[in-house]
Amino acid sequence: MSHWTPELLSPAGSLEKLKVSVLYGADAVYLGGQKFGLRQASDNFTYEELAEGVEFAHNRGSLVYVVLNSFLHDKDLEELPEFLHLLEELKVDAVIVSDLGVISTIKKHSNLVIHLSTQASCLNVESAKLWQKMGAQRIVLGREVTIKEAAKIKKATGLEIEMFVHGSMCMAFSGNCVISNYTQGRDSNRGGCAHSCRFEYSIDMGLQNDEQKKAYFMSSKDLEGIRLLPEFIEAGIDSLKVEGRNKSHHYAGTISKVYSDALGFYREHGHFLSSDMLSWEDELRKVSHRDYTNGSLDEYAGSDSIYNQREHDDNEFVVSGIVLEACVGKHLLVDVKSAFIPGDTLEVMPFAGATSKLHVEFLKTISGIDIPKSKPGSVVKIPYISGAEKFNIIRKAVNA
Ligand code: SF4
Repeated sequence: MSHWTPELLSPAGSLEKLKVSVLYGADAVYLGGQKFGLRQASDNFTYEELAEGVEFAHNRGSLVYVVLNSFLHDKDLEELPEFLHLLEELKVDAVIVSDLGVISTIKKHSNLVIHLSTQASCLNVESAKLWQKMGAQRIVLGREVTIKEAAKIKKATGLEIEMFVHGSMCMAFSGNCVISNYTQGRDSNRGGCAHSCRFEYSIDMGLQNDEQKKAYFMSSKDLEGIRLLPEFIEAGIDSLKVEGRNKSHHYAGTISKVYSDALGFYREHGHFLSSDMLSWEDELRKVSHRDYTNGSLDEYAGSDSIYNQREHDDNEFVVSGIVLEACVGKHLLVDVKSAFIPGDTLEVMPFAGATSKLHVEFLKTISGIDIPKSKPGSVVKIPYISGAEKFNIIRKAVNA
């Protein structure tokens, strides 16, 4: 008997990351087109990439949601209908929206399914009912909502409910903040957030010396909800979202794999094992992150959610490359993301199951010439390892 679990929704910051997320187990991915979304820094999709991405995901049973969650001016709205027609043509599965003007335009010009973005900060039953009347089929709740409150909203409305399970947090009510606008000239509500809350500030409140005045008082730890999967499942939360369209292939692959493995285990057995939980947490610590917190999933976030250290990421592994081709018994063709040398020990991350160690006994160009070091952006040949497949991530421990 298979037990019910929520959808795992992973970020697709680029076409390649979409493929990584899908292959590592995402049931759905979210991505941005060239305009109207809230991530200017991610490699937003061109029309052709969107078409290829939707086909790739649909062929593997995964859904595709497109973010249209910027707050728009009238001149931007005028260009929206044309984009909506393209999205309908491509059969995307939903659009993620926060601006009422955008919702109204979508309803006038298309039959696209509407998911309300977390940017709209829906935190209660009454607000959810109103958004439902306006056409939202799913609500991505604000990160300030606990799982218990989310269950109540679901029960009272019958709406699909999506919650963040993992990733960076925002110190404001999900992006409704202008620190970045004032300090960097970048509008957080139009895709430009510079994460100004994570910078060091100086507080002058009668403190004695410059060292005491320095503070990272607005920088949040990262969200990690894996221990709360039983609560998400019991509450019937429909979709668990992983933040991070701007993050690396390693992040997209690892987080998708860990949560997908965990949900897969539950589907089969109807429970979790604490030994597995420990090893999943261990894997989650291998990607770039600050310290982890439950955020407000359990109870409202407080001062223990603040990451009061220098802006840096604690990561134990970096991506060395992505497998482009596995030539059984001979070599792997690898798209190099960061340098490594012959003699290094790397790890190959399969789509399911444990990672395997790979010793770089040779490092060659495509034409077979030995090289002393791989260069990011190049394609190289390294020894074959059993089970490796196209799009597998190859990584290296930072201190190896
Ligand atoms: S600067 Fe920080 S608080 Fe403001 S929108 Fe960006 S992540 Fe949120």
